[in-house]
Amino acid sequence: MAEKRDYYEVLGVERGTDKKDIKKAYRKLAMKYHPDVNDEPEAADKFKEISEAYAVLSDEEKRNTYDQFGHAGMGGYSNEDIFRNVNFDDIFRGFGFDFGDIFDMFGFGGGQRRSRAERGADVYYDLSITLEDAAFGLEKDIEVSHKKVCPACEGSKAEPGTNTRQCERCGGTGQVQHVNQTPFGQFVNIRPCSQCRGEGVIIENPCHECRGTGIVREKSTIHIKVPPGVEDGSRLRVPGEGDTGKRGGPPGDLYVLINVKLHKLFERHGSDLVYEMPISFVQASLGDEIDVPTLGEEIVSLKIPHGTQPGTSFRIKGKGMPHLRWNGKGNLYVKAKVIVPKNLSPKQKELLKEFADISGKEIYTEDKGFFDKVKDAIKH
Ligand SMILES: [Zn+2]
Ligand SMILES: [Zn+2]
Repeated sequence: MAEKRDYYEVLGVERGTDKKDIKKAYRKLAMKYHPDVNDEPEAADKFKEISEAYAVLSDEEKRNTYDQFGHAGMGGYSNEDIFRNVNFDDIFRGFGFDFGDIFDMFGFGGGQRRSRAERGADVYYDLSITLEDAAFGLEKDIEVSHKKVCPACEGSKAEPGTNTRQCERCGGTGQVQHVNQTPFGQFVNIRPCSQCRGEGVIIENPCHECRGTGIVREKSTIHIKVPPGVEDGSRLRVPGEGDTGKRGGPPGDLYVLINVKLHKLFERHGSDLVYEMPISFVQASLGDEIDVPTLGEEIVSLKIPHGTQPGTSFRIKGKGMPHLRWNGKGNLYVKAKVIVPKNLSPKQKELLKEFADISGKEIYTEDKGFFDKVKDAIKH
């Protein structure tokens, strides 16, 4: 596909142009390129281009996104999203254009035509998992509610065994022709038949199971595999398990939205884990060998040196979360949390007093500068 032109350039307006003038510019161009009045082969493409530019620039939110990010920012909008709020009837009031054709041209039905196959809607499912599940992966059956073709009438909408008849108004085509007088002359437009609502058939006995819609809501059990290393907020796509498509269109997809619950012990930072390890001030002062829990069952042993300061982190390699996209794991960081005892026995108090007597009032720190400053402040 050719590179997209700037929307403002397409409509021939300046970037700051207000909504009213954008509408005017679009109207003027549309009258020139509308396929009902212009049968040159490029006209349809041109009309599509200006209509898309108008749809974006006439909508405040979309226009802001486009102003900031250009065409790259529009990737999140489907064709249908782009045209959602545009009221073409309002723009072309009195000109007798048919918009069923226009919507078809843009690649979606807009509910206008019978024969258009429509892709089913995507279905979303929220799944909460533990950090352990996120680390080791998980296979699970989930129950999903989605729209399926009615099994009773197989989508025909008619009660099984009853007859449907061809619509006499449109002869089964689902479409009727209208002749319109417009300022540009006489045009023949094709519209969906109102008697059969564009279906081409009249159903006298609607299916009791789906009430004549051809579609039922159904619960299905779906087996999913959550890969090890999955992140909070990620989406798992299960193709084809969304709602059924309309008029033979493909089904939508199922998206499983993963929420990883917080863990009692470990905090996750990407593929690394942080564990705050409580140690006594005696262990911190003298050093020790400590049992550290890891995610899963395993306990690993960690040597902490004497004089360990509160907040010091120790790295245990390869005991973090698995990487989602490559082999290997992140690290576990063990952060020393020095606990000051609250309830001391008389004997403990006695010993600590003795310790204080020997030590004097001096605070042992590597950061002499800070405490010197404190002392200075007290003196003056
Ligand atoms: Zn049915
Ligand atoms: Zn009809």
